[in-house]
Amino acid sequence: MARAVGIDLGTTYSAVACVDEYGKPMVIKNADGQTTTPSAVFVDPPNYVVGEVALQSTMTDPGKVVQFVKRFMGVPDYRVMVNDQTFSPEFISSVIIRKVVQEAEEALGERIQQAVITVPAYFTESQRQATYEAGALAGLNVLRIINEPTAAALSYGISRRGRPRNILVYDLGGGTFDVTVLAIDNDSLNVIAIGGDPHLGGKDWDDRIMNFIEDELREKFGYELEPDPSLEAELRLKAEAAKRQLTGRPSVPITFKAKRQLATGTGSMDTFIPVRVELSREKFEEITSDLLSRTEMLLENVLNQGNLTWDDISETLCVGGSSRMPMVREMLTRLSGRRPLLHDPDECVAKGAALQAALLVKDETVEEVNVGHVLAHSLGVATVKNGRTLIDHIIPALTPLPCSQTRGGYTTTIDGQEKVQVRIYEGEAADPQAYPNGPIGVFNLDTTPPRPAGRPNIAVEFRCDENGRIIAVARDSDTGRESRVMISLAGERDDSEVEEEALLLSQAIIS
Ligand code: ADP
Ligand code: MG
Repeated sequence: MARAVGIDLGTTYSAVACVDEYGKPMVIKNADGQTTTPSAVFVDPPNYVVGEVALQSTMTDPGKVVQFVKRFMGVPDYRVMVNDQTFSPEFISSVIIRKVVQEAEEALGERIQQAVITVPAYFTESQRQATYEAGALAGLNVLRIINEPTAAALSYGISRRGRPRNILVYDLGGGTFDVTVLAIDNDSLNVIAIGGDPHLGGKDWDDRIMNFIEDELREKFGYELEPDPSLEAELRLKAEAAKRQLTGRPSVPITFKAKRQLATGTGSMDTFIPVRVELSREKFEEITSDLLSRTEMLLENVLNQGNLTWDDISETLCVGGSSRMPMVREMLTRLSGRRPLLHDPDECVAKGAALQAALLVKDETVEEVNVGHVLAHSLGVATVKNGRTLIDHIIPALTPLPCSQTRGGYTTTIDGQEKVQVRIYEGEAADPQAYPNGPIGVFNLDTTPPRPAGRPNIAVEFRCDENGRIIAVARDSDTGRESRVMISLAGERDDSEVEEEALLLSQAIIS
């Protein structure tokens, strides 16, 4: 039986895991002996260096290191530019995947061809598709794309203890903060509320340490740091290292060499003076307390949105490397009245994905669980009403998959209109401009023979399967004519181009 792995493709760190011969998930260490690898790529075609070396290269070649590419997955036509060459986020992600998989192959001594890859629960279908493509580009057979909080819960062994209840997953990573509430019922896991902030994470805590260093230098040494990308990169690495140490120590020294211009008889020359500043955990918590409060506020928002209180939450799981910071556990204990679970926050997502992968390849050592999949975002069509374009939602977010739903009552706008344009959107807003990822599918429906405006009765049906494959069908009830598009994760996107733009569906009128 071919081994299948789980991959946590993170914004700042990635990890690969598999299950051992007893069905227990384990993270596979990279060539540096680490369980996670920085999602950083030093781009110097045809060479791409991934991981710690790339991260360290930010000091010498800041312009050649690509980071945080996950934020741009699925954004149409987005490209990162390095030395006049452009790269898609999917390509950069595939380079990261290939590297972590290759090191895992070396560690295991066998080839890896199949994987489950995780994505945040709020990822849209286009973002999931882009992640799928990154895996395929890396040469893998991607068995499934699953949600990170669900994977974390699987790895924490949550689903095996049966009674119906809710768990909250607090995932504070390097650049993002995700909160998810999962409901466990009959051994299945379903997402019931999602929130967070895609621009809040460990990096913001690092920024505060960097500001602290600059302030200390100014106040204690009367020294102003010159703006310089290499120095900034070095300070960032030192700040992150200090932050990690503060998780286990009450105080840390931060040392580096600061450049200073010395006036000489003939001009000036650069000298480097050693600088040392001390940062205590207490001070660190003080200068980052507003960041922690932001996570608290976002947590409360998610509970409110799901009509939940802390009494409805039976366990809180800490996920993401930043949830190792003692301030996080203290806050969660204060809010929930009990200690959160914090075993392996930066590994549990990959481990959960490995469990899911083992289940999919029918590895008998792994206990069966039902992972419920839900639609991450509402699905709807663009319609015109009183001259305005609005999204009419047909299936609400968080509907369990598979699902299908039909809505009729759409029609034409002008007399004799020969076709209508059906544009499929995902997301919650009614304004199509508010959608970051544009329409996820567009097709025309033939509305001949000509009839007066508002006369045809057109129905739109969505069918979604467990892998996020969506089929949208538009049907003219009078003529029985049909037209459809398939939007899929499996790379089989049906690109039956819309040759000419037709008028959008009109919102009707038929009562
Ligand atoms: P991702 O956002 O890519 O999912 P992770 O969950 O691995 O990433 O989290 C990475 C973040 O966790 C980084 O900001 C890193 O500095 C932080 N981190 C890792 N270990 C610790 C630690 N021991 N104490 C504090 N922060 C940590
Ligand atoms: Mg993560």
